[in-house]
Amino acid sequence: MDAMGTDLACATVTIENDTIVAVDPGGRAPPDSGADVREIDGSGHLLMPGLVNAHFHSSVNHLKGSLDSLPLELFMLYESPSEGRPMTPRAAYVRTLLAAMEMLKSGVTAVLDDAFFVPAPSPALIDAVMQAYADCGIRAVLALDQPEVPELAKLPFLAELLPAELRARAAAPPAMDAGALLECYQHLLGTWHGQAGGRLRAAVSCSAPQRVTPAYFRALDDLSRRHGLPFYVHVLETKLQRVFGEERLGGRSLIRYVFDEGLLNERMNIIHGIWLDDDDMDMIAAAGAVIAHNPISNLRLGSGVMPFRKLRARGIPLCLGTDEAIADDAVNMWAVAKLAGLIHNISVKDYREWPTAAEVLDCLIGGGARAMRHPTPIGCVAPGQQADLILVDLDTLAFTPLNDLRRQLIYCESGSSVRMTLVAGRIVYENGKLTQLDEPALRAEARQLFTRARTEAGREGAAAGDADAARWLPYYRQMYLKAADRDVGMQRFVGDGR
Ligand SMILES: [Zn+2]
Repeated sequence: MDAMGTDLACATVTIENDTIVAVDPGGRAPPDSGADVREIDGSGHLLMPGLVNAHFHSSVNHLKGSLDSLPLELFMLYESPSEGRPMTPRAAYVRTLLAAMEMLKSGVTAVLDDAFFVPAPSPALIDAVMQAYADCGIRAVLALDQPEVPELAKLPFLAELLPAELRARAAAPPAMDAGALLECYQHLLGTWHGQAGGRLRAAVSCSAPQRVTPAYFRALDDLSRRHGLPFYVHVLETKLQRVFGEERLGGRSLIRYVFDEGLLNERMNIIHGIWLDDDDMDMIAAAGAVIAHNPISNLRLGSGVMPFRKLRARGIPLCLGTDEAIADDAVNMWAVAKLAGLIHNISVKDYREWPTAAEVLDCLIGGGARAMRHPTPIGCVAPGQQADLILVDLDTLAFTPLNDLRRQLIYCESGSSVRMTLVAGRIVYENGKLTQLDEPALRAEARQLFTRARTEAGREGAAAGDADAARWLPYYRQMYLKAADRDVGMQRFVGDGR
């Protein structure tokens, strides 16, 4: 798995500090005795680059399994409940580690975290999230996903559907304005960008084009350009977002809007990209942007099926992500890769256009590396590359008998064959144990922090949040159905949608 897709039956890989310095087919002489070297015998194992979770929100790691499936716009009522007791830094730290531990144990070496904070970020919360990534040993690229326009500005039809009292609440500005958010970015950049030997980095995020003012959008793009940061942006995840363009942008799609603002470029990490038309895809290809594909989240929220082949045929780089832990509750990139390899088979008639396992692996690793915009090479087993590597045990049922390595990685492996995870040359997971953390203690603390129903105050807070969401729900449902019933000139659902 170098840049040429080479497989070596046997090799010795030498790592110095955080970098691969040699890959010798067949092996090489052991280093001089006395040198500070650890030799790892990988016989019977596959050494491959670590997986990249290229779209993730750590913010709701503690809410896995807490909701039945709902469309995105209704789901978000519960994802950011208005009762929102502010999260303490310790809780944010533990919450971040919950998924980071799951990722490292299944061979994910890097995560692009688009973290949102309810009601708003703070330096202490940013520090908590980044300290968690620093401590567990994963590579992380963090952005702050905070809208800064009122709810009414983000959604079509809502203003006419809501009764007066809810409309007034939906017209209120969010907790933090653009100036304060940019100060949070200064803290993130100044305190964390490039720390832990370059393992921790910043990105920027506007959440979605319709969730921010053009001025804030431009300010974020400016930060991204000056520091070379990825720019996370959710675009055309749902049909309702397609209808938003028809209703609120003079018939333009959200991609056309971003293009018209002069903000579509190669730093952009476009998340989802399901309801794109051919013109949108051409603009994305010309700009050189990458698209983050989250097939499990897209099924969990009924968003639709991304046009995989049309994007690949235009040369648009694709990476894969889990999205958040209540939209892909398992945070398992192997499951994401398997679904990416399967879901497109029911949306395209011509079977010759269906994804191959090798293509999905390319999205999983090469696409993820591309999305990170990492300053040093990453994503291959080759000299000069960052040593983000995993050892996969081939003496497991997933690989017995070994018929085709790439297909069995995509269609058979669940993550349970991963025996070792190295990030930047450091072993962070080995023989079933995370080496940098006390996982059982953290699980116990998470149970104590997040099992809200155990305390009377927690029960009341949750009930109040649910009751408030229930008040909004009928109006959001009407909004959703209005958009769902419209002909937008394309179909991204399988079947006729009835
Ligand atoms: Zn997302």
